[in-house]
Amino acid sequence: MSHWSDLIRDVPDFPKPDIVFKDITPVLADAGGFAEAMAELAEPWRGTALDAVIGVESRGFILGAALARELDIGFVPVRKPGKLPARTLTLDYALEYGSDRLEIHADALPAGARVLVIDDVLATGGTLRAAVALARRQGAEVVGAAVLVELAFLGARERWNDPTPLWSALAF
Ligand code: AMP
Repeated sequence: MSHWSDLIRDVPDFPKPDIVFKDITPVLADAGGFAEAMAELAEPWRGTALDAVIGVESRGFILGAALARELDIGFVPVRKPGKLPARTLTLDYALEYGSDRLEIHADALPAGARVLVIDDVLATGGTLRAAVALARRQGAEVVGAAVLVELAFLGARERWNDPTPLWSALAF
C-alpha cells in the first residue's frame, strides 16, 4: 500500500539551479494522502494542551489550517511583510543570501497562549526559527515546532539549539 510520502514530487532546479524542490501539492490533491499526512502531523500533539497552530506563509497556511481543525484549536498566520491588515509585530531574519521579514498580528493571541508552529518543509531552519521567535515575542508559549518534511541533510536539527521540540513527519 502506498504512503502519502510517495506523493511528494521532486522538482529539480526550482526555484533556482541545484535546488531540489519538494512539491507537496500532489499530497494535497489526493484525498486519502492529505488525510493520512494530516493524521500523522497531528498524532504527536493529540494529548498536548494547545490553543492555536501558527502557520508560516504560504504552504504553512494550508497545513496549519488543516491541522488546527484536526486538533480543534485556532489558527494564526505568520505572513510576509505588508499583508496583515491590523497592527503587527515584525521580525527580520538572515537567509543564506540576504534577509527576510515575517509579521504576526500584535493581538493575534492572548499572552501565554500555548502554540504549535508549523511549516511544510524544514530546509536551513531559518524560517521556522523566525516564526518561533515571533510567536514568543507576541507572548505565546511555543510548545512545539513541526514540519511535514525535514531535509535532514541540511543539518537544521543540529543547529536548532532551542528547548522547543522540533518534530517532522518525514525526513529525507
Ligand atoms: P528554510 O528557512 O531554509 O528552512 O526554508 C524553509 C522554507 O523554504 C519553507 O517555507 C519551505 O517551504 C521552503 N523551502 C526551502 N527549501 C525547500 C525545498 N527544497 N523544497 C520545498 N520547499 C523548500
